[in-house]
Amino acid sequence: MLQQVSAGNKSLADYRSIVRQELYEELQTLSKRLKGARVLHVNATRFGGGVAEILYTLVPLMRDSGLAVEWGVMFGAEPFFNVTKGFHNALQGAPYDLTVGSRAIYEEYNRQSAEALEDEWDIIFVHDPQPALLKHFSDGLSPETKWIWRCHIDTSTPNGQVLDYLSPYIKEYDAQVYTMKEYTPPNLDLEGLVIIPPAIDPLSPKNMALLADDSRYITNQFGIDEKRPFILQVSRFDPWKDPLGVIDVYRLVKEEIPEVQLVLVGSMAHDDPEGWDYWYKTVNYAADDRDIYLFSNLTNVGSIEVNAFQSLADVVIQKSIREGFGLVVTEALWKARPLVASRVGGIPMQVEGGGGILIDSVPDAAAACVKLLKDTGFARQMGQRGKEHVRKHYLTPRLLRDDLRLFAKLLKV
Ligand code: UDP
Repeated sequence: MLQQVSAGNKSLADYRSIVRQELYEELQTLSKRLKGARVLHVNATRFGGGVAEILYTLVPLMRDSGLAVEWGVMFGAEPFFNVTKGFHNALQGAPYDLTVGSRAIYEEYNRQSAEALEDEWDIIFVHDPQPALLKHFSDGLSPETKWIWRCHIDTSTPNGQVLDYLSPYIKEYDAQVYTMKEYTPPNLDLEGLVIIPPAIDPLSPKNMALLADDSRYITNQFGIDEKRPFILQVSRFDPWKDPLGVIDVYRLVKEEIPEVQLVLVGSMAHDDPEGWDYWYKTVNYAADDRDIYLFSNLTNVGSIEVNAFQSLADVVIQKSIREGFGLVVTEALWKARPLVASRVGGIPMQVEGGGGILIDSVPDAAAACVKLLKDTGFARQMGQRGKEHVRKHYLTPRLLRDDLRLFAKLLKV
């Protein structure tokens, strides 16, 4: 058995006032059709990053919809995570030398995890490249089981060597789910291809409405001066999230608005061996600037604290170099924060509704931050537009509906 994660409880009924009647009714119908369906989600970590974030909401809501759902974390250790981080980076376009040794490590952990699967599932839903070979190594399982592979990363400009290696395995799945059409491998004819963007849970501790006083009470405890504006980026400490670029932006903004503060919040994911290196790099880059604050889950910044920072930030920045979707962007828009974000991956489609300024460089980003910090009326309107766009497109009930539609199609119910 894989390491099981207990994802807690949620009730679909609580979302009733947030979603359109039509969507709510479709969820009821799909629940009836899928009642009792046995679904296993598999990913590489129970904590850190967008996939875990999504599963903590989807798993309990699928259960509440009457499906028998479990979440298992595959086997992994440092050598494996070093390889899969390399794959992740390569699929996002970084150079990578795929060696016989790294393939052997990758295949061995996938084989062991596949052997630990019990034969009791109607659907096995595999997330991201780490467990992508599970289907391949699952010979003993029922041929009736339907397999879904879900890609959460930006694979618009992948490293060919890694893509060519993984593609035949991905093709073995009954369905392949991507966030955007642009991420699908061009030369691979995927019969089961489905496009489903992710979503955030508006009722989770990360996103539920907090009173401004409560948010301030929290951020004050971390030393932020509430009388001065602050810019925020929440992201893993990772080169793709470009925290050093964020510091460059902040330094330019500070030349014009000396009282500005910068808050960088980043969690340390279990499957991300580069996290610590990049944390120290960022600490060193911040040098001894007392207006730069760096926090992580290890300094007690969990979901509620992230919520408080996101709810109060004067500008939220997302300076990613690549971004599969960018749940943090959705989270900030949902809190009606004005946003300055890179024109990459899933970000532009989230900003379509006018909720943010897209940027391509550090000076662009700094100019956008200055504009939003100076023109608070404009910033407020932008925040409201972003919130409405998220309400329409990127809340969990829509994601649940899309996933359940896919299950119903695969199981022919
Ligand atoms: N996150 C968090 N604390 C942190 C950093 C990130 O809770 O210190 C969460 C963040 O709120 C978001 C998720 O981790 O829900 C990151 O997802 P995203 O799609 O933005 O990026 P990924 O890490 O998956 O590349």
